[in-house]
Amino acid sequence: MSGPRYHRTRRQDQRLVGFECQGCGWVSFPDERRVCKRCGDAPADYEEVQLADRGEVMTFVVQHYLPDDIETPQPVAIVDVPQAGEDGPQTGNEGGEPARVYGLLTETDLEDLEVGREVEARFREVFDEGDRPINAIKFSIPRGEQ
Ligand SMILES: [Zn+2]
Repeated sequence: MSGPRYHRTRRQDQRLVGFECQGCGWVSFPDERRVCKRCGDAPADYEEVQLADRGEVMTFVVQHYLPDDIETPQPVAIVDVPQAGEDGPQTGNEGGEPARVYGLLTETDLEDLEVGREVEARFREVFDEGDRPINAIKFSIPRGEQ
């Protein structure tokens, strides 16, 4: 196989794609930002990086009071998702930094949830508005490991 495989299959395989600031290594997700949140580079020089499908819970909150049509309790977490690193070395930035991803936790027993827990990321295209898909990430504790 040759060529930029992942640009072609990105929509189909729905993997996580982050944007790594070439100035400081900060990985933003899901949106490419014109200004780097960390080093303030503007416009920032971003490169797309592929993220792993598992990450580690950095912190989480459990929402108990939400509108009636939303199921509660509803846990949301900030998860550090490492770069997948299967597309060859990222130039000048070995390994790279994880992306800090915010998302809902589903199919998760609250008693199993703790900081440092490994969770699986599921990428969903919620809806597609013209050529601008609206994406969402949901996390869950991998099956069989609860
Ligand atoms: Zn930066």
